[in-house]
Amino acid sequence: MKRFDSKYIDDGHTWHADASLILDDEGLITALLSQTQADIEYPRENCQEYHALGNSLLMPGCINAHSHAFQVLLRPTTGQPLHFQDWVDRFLYPLVLTLNEEQLYASALLVFSDMLRHGITTVGEFFYVHNLEDGSSSHNRHARAVIQAARDVGLRIALIRTLYDLGHKEGQKRFREPLDQALAQTEALYNIYRQTPEVTIMPAPHSLHGASKELIIAGAELAQQLNTPWHIHLAEQQSDIPFAQERYGLSPVQCLAEWGVLNSRTVLVHAIWLNETDKQLVKDAGASIAYNPITNMALGDGIADIPWWHNHGVPVALGTDANIQADLFAEARTTEYLQRSRKLAMGVIPEARSLAHMLNVHGGTVLGLPVGQLEPGYHGDFLVIDLSAEALLPASLGPYPEVPVLNQLIFSAPPAQVIRQVFVDGEEVVQNGQLSRLNPGQVAAELERALA
Ligand SMILES: [Zn+2]
Repeated sequence: MKRFDSKYIDDGHTWHADASLILDDEGLITALLSQTQADIEYPRENCQEYHALGNSLLMPGCINAHSHAFQVLLRPTTGQPLHFQDWVDRFLYPLVLTLNEEQLYASALLVFSDMLRHGITTVGEFFYVHNLEDGSSSHNRHARAVIQAARDVGLRIALIRTLYDLGHKEGQKRFREPLDQALAQTEALYNIYRQTPEVTIMPAPHSLHGASKELIIAGAELAQQLNTPWHIHLAEQQSDIPFAQERYGLSPVQCLAEWGVLNSRTVLVHAIWLNETDKQLVKDAGASIAYNPITNMALGDGIADIPWWHNHGVPVALGTDANIQADLFAEARTTEYLQRSRKLAMGVIPEARSLAHMLNVHGGTVLGLPVGQLEPGYHGDFLVIDLSAEALLPASLGPYPEVPVLNQLIFSAPPAQVIRQVFVDGEEVVQNGQLSRLNPGQVAAELERALA
């Protein structure tokens, strides 16, 4: 049993003052209660570990709903592409053609370390580089290398395994699998990790241009069978609308609805170019959204109608997608700032708590995992925020500073200046910006060797 005492604990919905969080030996939360009550029920001397965290806020770790780890290698070119297709043809595919297992591991190690230091405790890694350089299957070796990187740094991972059976460009030979193989490999990967609580596998037909109608339907059925959500890139670029119209005579959302696969397991990645009918279909189906505003800005995708989702109770989680930054707090403030710029207004998503839900609670929803909240039965994945940090002044001075501190965390404070520790399943994986499981210089050495 582990006990964490903190001035405040944010359970994902509200703050508890002078509170204790109790974890079992597996790192699952068993109780959140006052320190006075904890002294009676879980006395310090009975705890295997006792952490007196002092003037701190303990809050759920951020849940990164959508990432492509290897794209961290494109960071040096962020300013170069002329438009989306130029980015794909001149930067993404040439990189993809040369990637090997060591580079996939080392790039994941780099960006996953960066995520942890920024307070991300779970990543939804949307992974599609399934094949070797000659186009033959890696038999999940690539996916497993990325999962290993997450385990080596101590980050929880949902490997969202892509199903991809379309496309004839040279770069796409690294992704493409026939329908039967895509499904069999996804199930095989699922079975490898089914007893590993820190790793989850779920299917993801890549998109309407990457996956056939048959594969999308089969992917949704596989999710039902495995009892997981399923993800799909949808309506990211404006050109996705005429593409769906020409091929299927429907909007992208209508395709899913028509094929009977739009339901509460469905997670739409992006969902930017939707009309009113589309949005209503998504809401009625109980589907969710994984939104990536910084990548959408960088790629010139457009601005999603987040206020509509928010006002209609559709869960929106946030992702770092192309990983230009690995900071979910930045994604949250960008979400609001884009709406302010679009609507020439302020407070479009009116509460700091609503934005905070996108950081953690809704992330747990779109990944189908007991994470993103600090409640009994959930994983003990949390951040220790230093309320004495200058970067939280003046918010932290108030008598009950919940709303001011949340505002300042989202809009002002650099994560590195306020996150003192990061815990995953009750294990400290970051302390004062340093990763506990890796030696200093290890990430750089791995990457240098892999890229040599
Ligand atoms: Zn993506």
